[in-house]
Amino acid sequence: MPSPGSLPNVGPMPDAALFTREFECPSCGAPVPLARPGSRTLVCGYCGQTSHLNADSLQAVGEKNLLIDYGSVFQTGQQGKLGDRDFAVLGRMRFDYEDGFWDEWYLQFLDDGSEAWVQEDDGSFVLFQEQPRVEQPVDYDRIEVGRKVDLDETWTQVFITSKSHARVNGGEGELPFRIVPGEDATFVEGIWSGKIFSLELLAEGQIPFLGTLLKLDQIQLSPAFS
Ligand SMILES: [Zn+2]
Repeated sequence: MPSPGSLPNVGPMPDAALFTREFECPSCGAPVPLARPGSRTLVCGYCGQTSHLNADSLQAVGEKNLLIDYGSVFQTGQQGKLGDRDFAVLGRMRFDYEDGFWDEWYLQFLDDGSEAWVQEDDGSFVLFQEQPRVEQPVDYDRIEVGRKVDLDETWTQVFITSKSHARVNGGEGELPFRIVPGEDATFVEGIWSGKIFSLELLAEGQIPFLGTLLKLDQIQLSPAFS
C-alpha cells in the first residue's frame, strides 16, 4: 500500500464545471460552495454545520460536526485522475459501526459529470457507482445472509454476504442526497452479476451501488484546491 507521500503529484488541473454557486452557512455565515447543481446536502467547512438545500436556500439540520481527519490519501476539494479520466472529490460521508468507522468519498468525473463513490475501509478501496433505486420496500429483518434474494424486478438473485447497522457520523463538502448526522443507516451487501453489491437503507431512500476493487496505483491525486 503506497503512503500518501508517494502518490505522484499531477499538478493543477482544469476545474471546469466546478464552483457553480456559493451559499452562506445558516449557522456561521461562512461561504459554502456548491459545485454540482444536483447536490442535496452541503456541509460548512468552517463550523461543520450540515444543511439541506431546499429550493434555493440552506436549512440547517442536526448537530455541527467536523469530521476528524485520519490522513486518507483523498481529501474533499481535491482533483485527480482515474485512468485517463479527471475527477473532483466533492465530499465524503462517514459511517460509524461497532468495529470503528468507514468513509465514502463522493467523486464527480469532469468529462461527463457522472458520479462515483470510493469506499475506504481500513486501507482498502472500492469504487462504487450508484444504481437505479430498489422499487419495492426492502424488509431488512427478513433478508437472510448466505442466500439469494429478489429485491425487485431489476435486482434479482442478489447473493447476500452481510447485513449491518451503522450510524451516519457526518458529512463533508457536498452530497447528492439528504443526510442528518446521527441518523441510523442499514446496509445489505452481496454479489450481483459478479459485482460487489451494496444497498444503503437511509431515511432518504434505498440506494443500491455496484462496485469494483480499486488499487491506489490506478489513481493520481493533486493537492486540494480549497
Ligand atoms: Zn458554518
